[in-house]
Amino acid sequence: ALLDLISFCEEITDVLQMKAVGQQNIIFNYVGKCNISYMDEELLYCILTNLISNAVKYSPPQSNVWFNLDCGDGMAVFQVRDEGIGIPEKDQINLFQTFYRASNARRIQGTGLGLAMVKKCVDLHGGEISIESKQNMGTTVIVRLPLNSHGESK
Ligand code: ATP
Ligand code: MG
Repeated sequence: ALLDLISFCEEITDVLQMKAVGQQNIIFNYVGKCNISYMDEELLYCILTNLISNAVKYSPPQSNVWFNLDCGDGMAVFQVRDEGIGIPEKDQINLFQTFYRASNARRIQGTGLGLAMVKKCVDLHGGEISIESKQNMGTTVIVRLPLNSHGESK
C-alpha cells in the first residue's frame, strides 16, 4: 500500500519507547524523501518491531537505540543500532535459522524466531538484510527495501 514511512516509523518508535520508558532511549532519524512509498504494512511492521525490540532487549538500561531511515535511489535503508551485548562472531552466521539463539543471550528470554521471520519478510519484499556486531560493543542491523515494491506492472 501507499505508505508514509516517516509517520509509520515514528508510530513504531513511540509504541516501543513507551514499553522501554525509563530504560533504553530510542532515537529515530531520517534523511531523504521518505514520506511516500509502496510497501506492505504488515511485513514492514514485522521487520521493524522485531529489530527494535531486539535492540532494546539486548541492551542495558540507560543506553541508546538508534533507528535511522535513509530514502533515495529507489531504496529505503533502515538501520537499527544498539550499544548492547552484541553477538559472538561464531554465532553470527546462524542468526536467521529458526530457534537459533546466540550463546551470550540465553539468560534473556526469547524464542529465536524473530530474525527468522524478519528474514522471510525482507525476502518477500525483495530486499536485503545484513548484521554487524561485536560482543559487548553493540549490534547494527541494516535492511534495504525497494521503495516501489508494486513493481513495473502497475
Ligand atoms: P524472539 O523469537 O522472541 O525474537 P530472540 O530475540 O531470541 O527471540 P531472534 O530475534 O531471532 O530471537 O534473535 C536471534 C538471536 O540473535 C538472539 O537470541 C540473540 O542471541 C541474537 N540477537 C538478535 N538481535 C540482537 C541484538 N540487537 N543484540 C544482541 N544479540 C542479538
Ligand atoms: Mg527477537
